[in-house]
Amino acid sequence: MSVRIVQWPEEFAADIKDAQREEVNRMKKIAILGSTGSIGTQTLEIVRKSLQLQVVGLAAGSNVEKMEEQIREFHPSVACMWEEQAAAELRGKVADLNVKIVSGMDGLLEIAVLPQSQVLVTAIVGMIGIRPTIAAIEAGKDIALANKETLVTAGHIIMPLARQHRTAILPVDSEHSAIFQSLKGEWENPPGLQQTKDVQCIEKILLTASGGPFRGKSRQQLEQIKPEDALKHPNWTMGRKVTIDSSTLVNKGLEVMEAKWLFDVELDQIEVVIHPQSIVHSAVQFADGAIIAQLGVPDMKLPIQYALFYPERKFMEGKRVDLFELGQLTFEKPDTDTFPGLALAFQAARAGGSMPTVYNAANEKAVALFLEHRLSYPGIAELIRAAMEEHRVLANPTVEEILETERQTYEFICRRF
Ligand code: NDP
Repeated sequence: MSVRIVQWPEEFAADIKDAQREEVNRMKKIAILGSTGSIGTQTLEIVRKSLQLQVVGLAAGSNVEKMEEQIREFHPSVACMWEEQAAAELRGKVADLNVKIVSGMDGLLEIAVLPQSQVLVTAIVGMIGIRPTIAAIEAGKDIALANKETLVTAGHIIMPLARQHRTAILPVDSEHSAIFQSLKGEWENPPGLQQTKDVQCIEKILLTASGGPFRGKSRQQLEQIKPEDALKHPNWTMGRKVTIDSSTLVNKGLEVMEAKWLFDVELDQIEVVIHPQSIVHSAVQFADGAIIAQLGVPDMKLPIQYALFYPERKFMEGKRVDLFELGQLTFEKPDTDTFPGLALAFQAARAGGSMPTVYNAANEKAVALFLEHRLSYPGIAELIRAAMEEHRVLANPTVEEILETERQTYEFICRRF
């Protein structure tokens, strides 16, 4: 067989260039905060397989090596490292490329509002996500939101702002994506754009949780848990902090608060359901008693892809749920005596104002102490409780007050260790 190399005639060259330019223009432009993490790298896996997504900005904390790889593969125009030293090192490594390297909060803000980007994927951990998310909303970008801490602590600022700027908050968390998918047909628009008061169809949100690796254990048994045990989630592969949070049910507590803001429901309308198989990713019970759920294998790429391509549902390769192989799906009530982290979350959400910030910040520090073997596993919830008891709630806190509350909570915990 012979291969013939076709040389396009000169007169077609300009047309081909125009077509390529048009193709690039049609691509959805995205920026990712936390690109080197678990959600960030899975987002990039989707971009790698799609001809319709283009990365224009990336941000990470300190992982220079991974960021260099990502820049070389995805060619963003701007990349940010939180640490200036890491940014300086990265500048040296990618000096041969046409990419601007920025750092710190100014850098995150620059990535958040890049003029060419349409969607900001917020996949960093912690309240550091609040300011870039606000900046992106004000600049009219849609948000693919994984960084739940932003909504937990500043939901009262973020959601009204999104409505004001007509930007969509597309949930990436698998449970919230499942709820969002279950609402399709009932809600015309995604959170942020939907006028929720016009559509009072939600009776209850059934927020599922696997129950983590220690479901069924007694309080006494939990005393012996080591970080290595808690880092093994039975169904999901995630970042370290969220894996620990899943095992303590604190992650579910944060998700309760996230769901309250995203779907504009009262706390009493949210019920946590332990579902060890992690196949039903959450459900909505409607005013007529119908329950609509989203099922699937546990794979974060599905909710990430759904957020990136919304309102279209695209093909995704991979395993499918085989109901016959599964045989049964089971559901239980959560054991909030053994896992008080969930009950404390409801308490924090009911207190409102700055209390969810205290819950979140105390948990962050407690998890870090546990991972350093300086705090016992049940000590995580005890520390959250102590920090909450110490706090006097500020109603309707500003961003500055939220960050000040975070600082005070860290200080309270540091004084004890
Ligand atoms: P990881 O710990 O895996 O990744 C965190 C990412 O954030 C990394 O890219 C890290 O960079 C970057 N980062 C950390 N600090 C900063 C900073 N100051 N400035 C810029 N970038 C920073 O976290 P996950 O991907 O697991 O979680 C991300 C968010 O998504 C969390 O809010 C989590 O609750 C939520 N989530 C995660 C799920 C999951 O399956 N993992 C599921 C649902 C929600 P570096 O690598 O350089 O440190």
